[in-house]
Amino acid sequence: MSDDFDEIESAIARLPRDYLDDVIRAQREAASAAPPPPSVIPEPEWPYPPRHPLGGVVRFRCPLGCPWYHDENPGAERPGRFMLPVGFTNEDVASAITLEAEARGNAMRLRVEDAIAAHFAADHANR
Ligand SMILES: [Zn+2]
Repeated sequence: MSDDFDEIESAIARLPRDYLDDVIRAQREAASAAPPPPSVIPEPEWPYPPRHPLGGVVRFRCPLGCPWYHDENPGAERPGRFMLPVGFTNEDVASAITLEAEARGNAMRLRVEDAIAAHFAADHANR
């Protein structure tokens, strides 16, 4: 093996044992996690170029292929608010940001699912 390999091994040996245990535990949990539930949401499209005023808009077309679509504009959302404990740490801030992003993502997924369900009811009720 090369010097690079020796360098990597010695760097790993210098890491705190608890840190490595946490990383290994997190990797095992991620590998054994259940797959996400199936969704009716099709792959998104970005219909406008990045510098266009609507550049952040995400478009979801009808999964059945008709001309209908639903647009979401994440850039138009108000910034989220964070709840932090007294004497918060960097980890608390990172966790709060992650939770807020997950909440926004879940809210958008629900809006898109609701829009598709309403479209199905209105325009594809016979299927
Ligand atoms: Zn349709």
